Amino acid sequence: QPQNRPMPELRQSGKLADVCYDIRGPVLDEAKRLEDEGHRILKLNIGNPAPFGFEAPDEILHDMIRSLPAAQGYSDSKGVLSARRAVVQHYQTRGIEGVDVDDVYLGNGVSELIVMALQALLNNGDEVLVPMPDYPLWTAAVSLSGGTPVHYLCDEGADWYPDLDDIAAKITDRTRAIVVINPNNPTGSVYPKPILEGIVDLARRHGLLLLADEIYDKILYDDAVHIPLASLAPDLLCLTFNGLSKAYRVAGFRSGWLMLSGPKRHATSYIEGLNILANMRLCANVPSQHAIATALGGYQSINDLILPGGRLHAQRDAAYEALTSIPGVTCVKPKGALYAFPRIDPDVCKIVDDEKFVFDLLQSQRILVVQGTGFNWHQPDHFRVVTLPQVEDLTDAITRIGEFIGSYRQ
Ligand code: PLP
Repeated sequence: QPQNRPMPELRQSGKLADVCYDIRGPVLDEAKRLEDEGHRILKLNIGNPAPFGFEAPDEILHDMIRSLPAAQGYSDSKGVLSARRAVVQHYQTRGIEGVDVDDVYLGNGVSELIVMALQALLNNGDEVLVPMPDYPLWTAAVSLSGGTPVHYLCDEGADWYPDLDDIAAKITDRTRAIVVINPNNPTGSVYPKPILEGIVDLARRHGLLLLADEIYDKILYDDAVHIPLASLAPDLLCLTFNGLSKAYRVAGFRSGWLMLSGPKRHATSYIEGLNILANMRLCANVPSQHAIATALGGYQSINDLILPGGRLHAQRDAAYEALTSIPGVTCVKPKGALYAFPRIDPDVCKIVDDEKFVFDLLQSQRILVVQGTGFNWHQPDHFRVVTLPQVEDLTDAITRIGEFIGSYRQ
């Protein structure tokens, strides 16, 4: 009788060795365990508007439901034509010229498209400049694609703007692309034109691809203005990423797009690569593709939320006030997006391991935030809160975080 081989341990691929996404990391597992035990956890960890009562604009739901009968089959792998046309027309009004429906790829959220764009681009050892702090999918996707993420500094002392000298110093022969997240997650910074022009200039001088993650482009406060990176770089290849998850509050529908702009004749091979990857995953969720034209045209209800008196505006203010009232905590006031990224002065509260800090906060206060190192920040002295809960909940939670910091010793 032949013996069966003992079952070998199933090991994860070595390709994941440097891949890390702490927003949904081990601390979230602990939060789920506590919830299973019956505890109520206030989740300030994920930028997911709907559970906080931010419902999608009616017309988006309406048009998606109406499209269901006709959306049962696969679409073209780049997406339905009407949605891609709407994306092109939207960007034409925002100063990006020379783009066509063939330059638009619809995806299951921006997340899928970020991974595709990097998988199509990178050979082992190629470098990509990624902001620090960053939205960690970018770092993870570069690593997963065999590339090396090289972090450039965003300067807290200068409203978290990218440090152009640091970027310049980190460009090497292996640098292929530079990632710009504007408005920024986690810092809430919105970049002025001279900073964006400085980045474009570096990309121009060194032949780099621009990767512009602009998913928060409509979530702006005070006098902030969003300038699409591609509008400043008609002579450079640029991929602009955006979608419906944030400004249109339908993160669960998984609807995003990427648009290629600039001199595409220099990118024939890359575009072939992107097309292979788009074909391999067949297409994005078709019903939610039908929401894109509805979202981009007409009335933009997000404006009601971000203007003074609007809910997001009030919550941003409340979070900022509460955070900066905590002794030893400072915070650059967010000008966009859905987050604040405060700093804890190590002279007031010395944190050695910030993952342990958020774990201990969860245990003690039943509040879940994300540690700064989860955004590839280089010191254990920051954390991120989302500004999505109602003002009273947010203020109460941050006050409790302050009390916790006051008595916390590692
Ligand atoms: N880019 C940034 C900067 C984000 O903050 C997020 C989500 O939080 C994403 C991309 C992913 O968005 P999507 O829901 O479109 O996959």
